[in-house]
Amino acid sequence: MQVKEMAKKTVADIDVKGKKVLMRCDFNVPLDEDCNITSDDRIVKALPTIKKILDGGGALILMSHLGRPRGQRDEKLSLAPVAKRLSELLQQEVIFTEDCIGPETKAQAGALTDGDCMLLENLRFHKEETIKDKAAKEDAQLRQAKDDFARQLADLADVYVDDAFGTTHRDNASMYTVPVLMEGKPRVIGFLIEKELQFLGETLSNPERPFVAILGGAKVSDKIGVIENLIDKVDRIIIGGAMAYTFLKGRGKSIGKSLCENDFIDKGQKLLYQAAEADCEVILPADHDVVRKLKAGAPHRTAVGDIDPGYLAVDIGPIAIKSFSRKIADAKTIVWNGPMGVFEIPPFDRGTKAISLAVAEATDKGARSIIGGGDSAAAVKKLGLENRVSHISTGGGASLEFMEGKKFKCLEILDDK
Ligand code: AMP
Repeated sequence: MQVKEMAKKTVADIDVKGKKVLMRCDFNVPLDEDCNITSDDRIVKALPTIKKILDGGGALILMSHLGRPRGQRDEKLSLAPVAKRLSELLQQEVIFTEDCIGPETKAQAGALTDGDCMLLENLRFHKEETIKDKAAKEDAQLRQAKDDFARQLADLADVYVDDAFGTTHRDNASMYTVPVLMEGKPRVIGFLIEKELQFLGETLSNPERPFVAILGGAKVSDKIGVIENLIDKVDRIIIGGAMAYTFLKGRGKSIGKSLCENDFIDKGQKLLYQAAEADCEVILPADHDVVRKLKAGAPHRTAVGDIDPGYLAVDIGPIAIKSFSRKIADAKTIVWNGPMGVFEIPPFDRGTKAISLAVAEATDKGARSIIGGGDSAAAVKKLGLENRVSHISTGGGASLEFMEGKKFKCLEILDDK
């Protein structure tokens, strides 16, 4: 099932009055060293779905992961600060549980009444949350452990809601096993996922042209599937970031010490050939910002064409910025995933900044633009351009897998419209 066929029931399609509603959120917020939330964006974004359920008379049980505690309790990764912030935003008490499962949690859930809101402690304090189904299939003990954990969560509620788009490409217990175990009860998506499906689905299935994909970041291997799937859909693919050098080396360019995945050179060349066959233009950087050593303050210069031995590319160069921007300017549909250079270390963020601006300007002129989360989203936000793009996805990895045309079994099992 492709995303365009995924018309799923949402919280607006069901009656939650008097029901216990278990909702998977993405409260994986950034924290500082003292466990203060540095951006409450993810909590704020979940509010429309949360309010819909509370206003509809449901008793809400929220669950999420935070960071990577690797199956152990880690006070630094407690969701307690999220409960506090959520309570401020909702202006009502948010009950916070010590643990996401166990008799105490079950009793607390049982005592909830209509309009109450409760947040469970970090799901990933239990290793069962992230046991992969593939591993569980091969090991009966793992299967049992994952099922037992999921069963305790599933038994808390009458309705399941998934609004954690950033995790939809995973088969975590809370994302997949829990709704499987809740078969027969309403299982729907929240407004955040609905918006993602609408944007990504409509854009990929019915794009206005020219349709331009911009791909960057570290690894070609991560994005091979996306390029393969997009070749038949888009008019142009712009490739920047470290991944460009695997393609350029394959074309016989000298790339110095630039990052390169030698095992993917042949595959990269095949993709360029496939693209040419499909009339999909692929644009690679003609020049590069290069350094001898990747560190803040390193002396840098522009290399046109070949890169001398001893140098590595850390950003696209000024000619590439111009040509990429020109190829973006007349686009009517744009998808972007991955930075053009080592944008974390200025001034190697110049290319990424320029592309952010080019995307914003094209959007001003009527293009529909989707920023695929992660680093590109961070760059757009850092420049204060978030209101000048059409959609910033809440899931980098998930939006990439959508663009690859992959199936999302977490969503497939939820109720169709
Ligand atoms: P990804 O997670 O694959 O989207 O990659 C993002 C990372 O790619 C960022 O941390 C960037 O610093 C890095 N990156 C982008 N361009 C380059 C480059 N030319 N050389 C080294 N790292 C790069």
